[in-house]
Formats: sequence, structure tokens, C-alpha cells
Amino acid sequence: MVMASAAEFVAVPALSDNYIWLLHDWDSGHTAVVDPGDGAAALSAVAERGWTADQLLVTHWHPDHTAGVAQVKAASGAEVWAPAAERAKFVGFDHGLGEGDRVAVGRWTAEVWEVPGHTLGHIAYILPEIGVALVGDTLFACGCGRLFEGTPEQMFRSLQRLGELPGETLAYAAHEYTLSNVRFAAHVEPANAAVAERLRAVEAARAAGRVTLPTSIAEERATNPFLRAANPDEFAALRARKDSFR
Ligand SMILES: [Zn+2]
Repeated sequence: MVMASAAEFVAVPALSDNYIWLLHDWDSGHTAVVDPGDGAAALSAVAERGWTADQLLVTHWHPDHTAGVAQVKAASGAEVWAPAAERAKFVGFDHGLGEGDRVAVGRWTAEVWEVPGHTLGHIAYILPEIGVALVGDTLFACGCGRLFEGTPEQMFRSLQRLGELPGETLAYAAHEYTLSNVRFAAHVEPANAAVAERLRAVEAARAAGRVTLPTSIAEERATNPFLRAANPDEFAALRARKDSFR
């Protein structure tokens, strides 16, 4: 759990390696559920804490992020915010969002960034008041999402943009892929001491069953090869290497 102002984040493990993030505002009692790929898991995590799901925030349409939307909505009456461009791609859509839109989350305001690459409609929710970015499958700890719909140029620009957030910004990604990602980073940047140190820390964290997210933008700048790529060509080559890395 991470406390920032009166914000509490909870990582709810779901499916094989997803996290459904709960963002709870202790002052207003508001709870937002981010990318509920498993409705039952999300609802029980909310209920265990005596909270209610007031709002669903979706980053992109993939079923491991949206399969539980209709169930959570039916059980709680929560309204659903999601990329306008992906309206037809899942059940339960209410409010479409695009670049520059703002949405109230508890007492805070999220700015919507379009970050295409993993999917074409993928959005991130940026909450500057609490130094948070909900990044879905765009930026991972030491990695990035696969290019299912977008081009390397699009993903490169999306990552560069996230990398320009203040270094202390905490990025909440939707998968526990960190160990494999840091191993790849150590493979492609064997002389990077920050990567070597991160590998030791992540191996220890995973051996102890700990969640390795969120990650800070500063840490990503120092260790994430995809954020450190100099141009779209270099990024594309790295992404292709990672796709076949074991
Ligand atoms: Zn995805």
C-alpha cells in the first residue's frame, strides 16, 4: 500500500499477472477501480475494506482490463470512463475520453493523455495533485507494452512523453512483469549499475512475493531501456529483441 496525501492504492492481483488498482480517497471516501479484468476479484477487494466502487477507469479495451467492467458496474452502480476510440470494444462503456479531457477522481482531477502503441486508443490518467500516472499497458517497470496495434514511432513518443513527467511521479502499471523486464534490461545494458542494483532488488522482492509496483519515473529514466532508447528505430529494435527474449 502507498499513501500519498489521503490517497491509498491497493494492488489487487487478478488473472495470471494483472493488477487491478484501487485508488481510495480517505477524505471523501471515493474509490476508483482501474482496469477491472476480473469483476469478482475487484468487488471482493473493495468490499473487504468496507469501500464501494464509485468509478471505473479503463486504460484500454483488452479483456484482461475490461472483462469485469459490466459485473462491477451492475453490482455497484459505478460509472465507467474509458477511451472514446475503444467504445465498441467492450461491454459497459459510459463516458468516452480523449486527449486533454479531465475527469474528477475523488477530490482530484485526472488529465487524460492519449498514449497509442499497445492499442491505438490507449489512454493514461495523470493526477498531478498526488504525483500519479495510471499507465495501463503502456509503461511497465523497466519495460513497455507490446505493440499490438500501434507503430514503434507511436509507442516511442508515448513513452518519451511519460518520461517527461516529474521524476517523483509514481507510475501504476497493470502487470507484474518487472523481473523479466529487469533481466532483459541487464542483458541489453550490462554496464548500467542502476539496472544491476534494480535486478538484485526485484529478485529479492519477487522471492518474498512482494508487488514491484508502482515505479517512479526517475527510476524508469535510469533503468528502462525502452524509455532510454534514443529514437524510434532504436526503440523498435529493442522491442523486437524483447519479444523473443527468454
Ligand atoms: Zn493490454
